[in-house]
Amino acid sequence: MTTISIQRNEQPHHQPLPPVAPDLFQALPDQSGLVGAYCCQCERHFFPLINQCSSCYGPLERRLFGERGNIYSWTVVRTKAPFALPEPYAVGYIDLADLPLRVFCLLDPEATADLTVGAAVSLKAMSLGVNASGAPCVRPVYCLTREAA
Ligand SMILES: [Zn+2]
Repeated sequence: MTTISIQRNEQPHHQPLPPVAPDLFQALPDQSGLVGAYCCQCERHFFPLINQCSSCYGPLERRLFGERGNIYSWTVVRTKAPFALPEPYAVGYIDLADLPLRVFCLLDPEATADLTVGAAVSLKAMSLGVNASGAPCVRPVYCLTREAA
């Protein structure tokens, strides 16, 4: 027990930051995306994850999706930011590329001057702000996709 405690104290910066909330998104090299749900009965998708289909009350499967999309609408928030988010920060609705679902999410705070309706975006896990307990955390953020020339 003592050894484990010492190792934790020696390597505080090597610990990955926790996600802002459990089961909201996943960022692994071969498995990344928003954590959502799919209804096998009525074929609807949901984000964030819920326990039962709100349309047909059918059972849901946990699914990862939303790596790419396009901005449907966005805004830059210039009031005092909650959770130590940068000021200003941006939020928007993203139409996902791989399925018919529109999600609400943070947008890249470094790109507030470049956001446009219809712009292609991709999902990234970004160290941004703090969680409800005040600890630094990682959040899902949509960033403008830089097209290769
Ligand atoms: Zn359903």
